[in-house]
Amino acid sequence: MAEKPRVATASLCGCFGCHMSLLDIDERILQLVDLVTFDRTPLTDIKTLGDCDLGLIEGGVANAENVEVLREFRRRCKTLVAVGACALNGGIPAMRNQFSLAECLHESYCGGIGVHNPGIPNDPEIPLLLNQVHPIHEVVAIDYFLPGCPPSADAIWTFLTAFLEGRPIAFPYTEIRFD
Ligand code: SF4
Repeated sequence: MAEKPRVATASLCGCFGCHMSLLDIDERILQLVDLVTFDRTPLTDIKTLGDCDLGLIEGGVANAENVEVLREFRRRCKTLVAVGACALNGGIPAMRNQFSLAECLHESYCGGIGVHNPGIPNDPEIPLLLNQVHPIHEVVAIDYFLPGCPPSADAIWTFLTAFLEGRPIAFPYTEIRFD
């Protein structure tokens, strides 16, 4: 029997809403489990990434660890997909781009409302923040962009089934409208 396509997913600087939308395919998840093998993904809690056919990335690139994870996904995944507004254009995390990193850190840890014991965390375990939040295509090449905040479960399902069956990716209007 032919080996099933391997699929990995990751959340960079995102809210996990895009992963929740994937789970919102509800009982179709059973079909998906029949069609693919999951590699590294928060859905299985597998932490190491193997060679994969498809990688789905949620979230923008906000820190050094995000860059590392994204580059590894690009190396390991034949096809890489930007899932959701944060991955496509930085989304909500990129709202901090209008301020300097120093201003953001000061607001969050020193001078902002409700801050007690001011002090910027400085532990080597904490990934270094980038000056700005970047969409993932600014760091690696991306094969497909799946818009939405989050993309609907139906749109994710349409993408996955078309991709896995080797059909052209096309969405009905109802799955890709945002008004
Ligand atoms: Fe969350 Fe929306 Fe960003 Fe997805 S696109 S990670 S749902 S904020």
